[in-house]
Amino acid sequence: MRHFPIFLDLAGHRIALAGGGETAVSKLRLLLKTEATIDVFAPDAVDDIRRWHAAGRLTWHVRAFAPGDAATARLVYAATADAAEDARIRAIAAAEGALVNVVDDLSSDFITPAIVDRDPVTVAIGTEGTAPVLARQIKAETEDRLSPDLGRLARLAAGRRGEVEALPPGRARRDFWSGFFAHWGPPALAAGGEDAVAAAFDAHLATALSDALAPAEGKVVLVGAGPGDPELLTLKARRCLHEADVVIHDRLVGAGILELARREATVIEVGKTPGGPAWRQDDINALMIAHARGGAVVARLKAGDPLVFGRADEEIEALGDAGIAVEIIPGVTSAAAAAASNGRSLTRRGRNQAITLMTAHDADGFAEHDWRTLAKPGAVAAVYMGVRAARFLQGRLLLHGAEAARPVTIVENASRAEERRVAATLGSLPEAIDAAGIKGPAILFVGLAPGAAAEAVPVLDIAPRTAAPRIAVGEAS
Ligand code: SAH
Repeated sequence: MRHFPIFLDLAGHRIALAGGGETAVSKLRLLLKTEATIDVFAPDAVDDIRRWHAAGRLTWHVRAFAPGDAATARLVYAATADAAEDARIRAIAAAEGALVNVVDDLSSDFITPAIVDRDPVTVAIGTEGTAPVLARQIKAETEDRLSPDLGRLARLAAGRRGEVEALPPGRARRDFWSGFFAHWGPPALAAGGEDAVAAAFDAHLATALSDALAPAEGKVVLVGAGPGDPELLTLKARRCLHEADVVIHDRLVGAGILELARREATVIEVGKTPGGPAWRQDDINALMIAHARGGAVVARLKAGDPLVFGRADEEIEALGDAGIAVEIIPGVTSAAAAAASNGRSLTRRGRNQAITLMTAHDADGFAEHDWRTLAKPGAVAAVYMGVRAARFLQGRLLLHGAEAARPVTIVENASRAEERRVAATLGSLPEAIDAAGIKGPAILFVGLAPGAAAEAVPVLDIAPRTAAPRIAVGEAS
């Protein structure tokens, strides 16, 4: 970090700026937001500067910058758009001990960042000159994210900060302020101005104080972590992760998502490696109950959607029996993410009016299904946990009349960087899985060929072993 960002107090201090053209104007627009006294030095000046001078917002000295002009200035800007003149000003400022910025010259004493202004909340963005486009992009995104009223809210908050100290430090205060800035403050301000904010403040503070006197009550939130891409988290899931004291997650929940947990949160993996050592469900339940009883907000992160093949009912019942409040935040289930990667609808008029989400495994081993219905022409099934059960699945479907040429698309690691799609047929399914070396979590779409829309993803084509009629790619039978 060559340039260190600081917030400099300019109230009651002088800024000297040399230059009277547009370069000077664009700096002045920013500097006029400060509480500094501004002196502009220029033999001639554009209208904006003349107007600001007439309005008393700055003083225009109708001459070039001269020795002595930097002596009492906290900051000096050389903005004459003339390199030789800027260098002369820089030398004067250096001799007189002021920090100087030569516009667009990274070797200056200081550089001015891109600024998002919600005074008193200020976001400064710098890239040390390497990527102005990136700085503009970050600025635009930040402008969008921060309500225009944020500054007013922050000022109101400053006035009442002392009252909130009646709450115990830690979560109670944090929750109060995050509610103020994110949840109830902005709508109150929009609906009824500062009086409405004051009324909402009183009401929420009273509630928070009475809650703080009651013993802390924890809760468990079953959170859908989605298929892996952190951008597929819901905003609710993201917020919950940000607020949780304890995060208990499955093995399939990736690092990119766990990084969104608060730094102080306790993060515990309760992995159930297929075929490997596993946490017992009872132990997971006991862990959640213990933390919630201790007053913690526990985020129980589950891959995909928590209510799809996630053993959620067992957890909900155990928590209910223990008298612990449970909330559920849905997530993007892997079949939905895999379908998006595959670029092909799961339902289609004239082909299938229903779609089966099924697992090839249950607690007793391979799972039985209504195979006759699943084997019907046009049927589409998204099979979870199907990789190791592929041969069983194939056998059952063929036995009940499904054609060997029925297309199967395997989507491994949907939505993650390592995502792959493999095209197979029912007749070649176990061989295709072996040949492709599928190791990650995968969805098998039985009855769906790979979609053309996703051609960029490498697709491994494996010929069916049985001599079956070829199916045109893109058409399910
Ligand atoms: N609740 C989860 C499913 C848990 S069962 C959900 O809604 O997605 C675990 C199975 O989910 C895995 O065996 C695999 O079939 C599937 N799965 C999870 N993540 C996946 C991913 N990123 N890509 C493909 N399949 C995935």
